[in-house]
Amino acid sequence: MDLLHWKLFPLLALLASFLFFFYIQDSSKSSQSGCSLFPHSHYWIASKRIVTPQGIISGAVEIKGGSIVSIVKNKDWSGKFKQVVDYGNAVVMPGLIDVHAHLDDPGRAEWEGFPSGTKAAAAGGITTLIDMPLNNFPSTVSTETLKLKIEAAEKSIYVDVGFWGGLVPENAFNATALEALLDAGVHGLKSFMCPSGINDFPMTDARHIKAGLSVLAKYKRPLLVHSEIQSVVESHLETEDGGGDPRSYSTYLKTRPPSWEEAAVRELLTVTKDTRSGGPAEGAHLHVVHLSDASSSLDLIKEAKRRGDSITVETCPHYLAFSAEEIPDGDTRFKCAPPIRDAANKEKLWNALMEGDIDMLSSDHSPTVPELKLLNDGNFLKAWGGISSIQFVLPVTWSYGQKYGITLEQLVSWWSERPAKLAGQHSKVKFLKLSFYICISINPPSPFSGALRMNNLEMTTTLFREP
Ligand SMILES: [Zn+2]
Repeated sequence: MDLLHWKLFPLLALLASFLFFFYIQDSSKSSQSGCSLFPHSHYWIASKRIVTPQGIISGAVEIKGGSIVSIVKNKDWSGKFKQVVDYGNAVVMPGLIDVHAHLDDPGRAEWEGFPSGTKAAAAGGITTLIDMPLNNFPSTVSTETLKLKIEAAEKSIYVDVGFWGGLVPENAFNATALEALLDAGVHGLKSFMCPSGINDFPMTDARHIKAGLSVLAKYKRPLLVHSEIQSVVESHLETEDGGGDPRSYSTYLKTRPPSWEEAAVRELLTVTKDTRSGGPAEGAHLHVVHLSDASSSLDLIKEAKRRGDSITVETCPHYLAFSAEEIPDGDTRFKCAPPIRDAANKEKLWNALMEGDIDMLSSDHSPTVPELKLLNDGNFLKAWGGISSIQFVLPVTWSYGQKYGITLEQLVSWWSERPAKLAGQHSKVKFLKLSFYICISINPPSPFSGALRMNNLEMTTTLFREP
């Protein structure tokens, strides 16, 4: 009997039971008008390549009433059923979960906004995203500001959206306020160890982070940290002329050296020891966002993991696709923080990802209006830092990963399984709806071939819901 109920698939079950504050615009409408698969309420999506935790199988995903009810192996179902959408060699896999996106809504919706940001996510195969607490205004640091964000999102999103709350000096020592924010449903907290570039989102230090972790421990939710500490001597560079031509990328690169990341990670590790088994913040978890330095910073994180600290780390496709040497003068689209480093560093990042030392990927999608990117001036020192990428992360990861022999199972691990664990681990977040998504890419035999050759990638993102 090969009728495999979804409960037998930990990954599918994990995604299905992933705890979210879900704000689906209108699930029945979006699942049908959005993908126009079938008018039937009971059907099968067949493929020779369905990615499951047990490997890639040939078979079909059974959908009933908008929900996945089973995954069936080929030999058992063929010929038995009528309503089958057969995708042949195309890959059927879980939708991507992006744990790091800035949609800037409310307050700076002209930078992105929930409608365009979530449509771009869906177009790129991301079916769930967790929105960062800053770049919107006001920043999401209290129950009141979370309410504003929920109101902005409620009627204008096309994929599942959850929220991180902000850990800032103003609330860090106020356990009651943090608990209220966590009770209201944020998946965890985010803080900065350097200026965030957003006035109402000030930076934290190790004391704030320690206090935040002790509250998060009770909720078993993570703290995500932007890990760079500005050194006084070097910070001087960015505010002045950077010691060189501001249109040259290398000038900008020098203003944010790897030592900033290393200093931050070193300081973080003085508090992550609290998260060890038996420690005062056992249950809390620290997640280093968008690691760029693949040397000392990564070594420190690896050591901390070995010691039993509850810590994970992500990097982003732009660090894996680009290198400093290739960035043209004046092309401020590449400006982000921490910066894209040299080609040797990029190789190390890939190795760390392949070895499992980097746990997962995220977009760090952080758009703004073209005027603030100073595309005409090309001044790297003054342009807004942030890369707009949410719809490209899947083809970029796959295309650039070909050189390293990445597999579909790795893709699912980096983009679905581990992000799901991060955002939902042991979570008791109350959520409005449960859902499960699956993403179908149509491009046999190589599912996403060609570097950024988007024309080669046809993708249907289809929403299925767990009952
Ligand atoms: Zn970010």
